[in-house]
Amino acid sequence: MVRDVFVVDGKFAFDEPDDDPDTTFDDGYLLPGLVDAHAHLALFSPAPDDASPEERARASAQAQLDAGVLALREPGSPDNGSVALLDDPSLPRIQIAGRFLAPRGRHFPGLAREVPEDSLPDEALVELGTSGAWVKVIGDFFTSDGFTANWRPETLAEAARRVHEAGGRIAIHAILPDVIEAAIEANFDSIEHATVLRSDHIRAMKERNIAYVPTMIIADGADAMIASAGIPDAQARMVTEAFVRQGERVSEAVDAGVVTLAGTDAGMGPHGLIREEIARFLAAGVARDVALGAASWTARSFLGYPLIERARRRISSRSGKIRAKRSAPRTS
Ligand SMILES: [Zn+2]
Repeated sequence: MVRDVFVVDGKFAFDEPDDDPDTTFDDGYLLPGLVDAHAHLALFSPAPDDASPEERARASAQAQLDAGVLALREPGSPDNGSVALLDDPSLPRIQIAGRFLAPRGRHFPGLAREVPEDSLPDEALVELGTSGAWVKVIGDFFTSDGFTANWRPETLAEAARRVHEAGGRIAIHAILPDVIEAAIEANFDSIEHATVLRSDHIRAMKERNIAYVPTMIIADGADAMIASAGIPDAQARMVTEAFVRQGERVSEAVDAGVVTLAGTDAGMGPHGLIREEIARFLAAGVARDVALGAASWTARSFLGYPLIERARRRISSRSGKIRAKRSAPRTS
């Protein structure tokens, strides 16, 4: 689709303003900004280790912005340093999830707020009170004894029910198939990684409108970490095989209509690599516009942010014209 788009007082408009605007850009594409749907601003920050949590989160957010990311979701933090950034118009729009929630000893040391099983629903509401948006639950973890679920399915269901009742959304880190299944049954809003994802999960996620954030970019690092953890062979093989076939799962989920989003899991690695996750979508055989949408308009819609849309009110002064092919699929 090719059309003229006008900028009036910093907002998009589709009707030509009265004051004969200058053409500021011709024959390009308009994108509503890139989105990293999974980035931990506290971790792998460009700021020094002795910087404050806020400074570390700010430096990470700036690195994301420098890569073209105008919105991001932080599914879990060790320190809530990003809370201070929520209203900063010079940074990407940010949705946070408060602190990671895990049982004692069931996440990487020092990252999660450790809570007993029975108090997960209450503690999820505490994190929602901080984030105002999301809660993040660590659904499984591994030791040399193997990979196991962190919570009973009924605990996850109750946590999700309470978070939804309070108007929030809830995400889960899930590698194992039984944890993915429990999260689906519990109506979580997004499943992060979903490494050992099956076709029946994909169908159920579509039916329940649950988003899938595969974070393909970390597959090699995560696989190596699991391989070196000494977990039992059968489980190690299951997970390694799932990493090999991750692209097929992503392609299948996209074809099935699951909301599938690009997230880098920055924090495992550097911030600002969203382009590389888009490249993983392409390598998985996902169509180019869908791959870009997974890191832009699809993610913005999922997070409730506007696309390239008609401004609500129009004041005809200081306007400019952009002649561009609009790549977002919706006009309003
Ligand atoms: Zn993560």
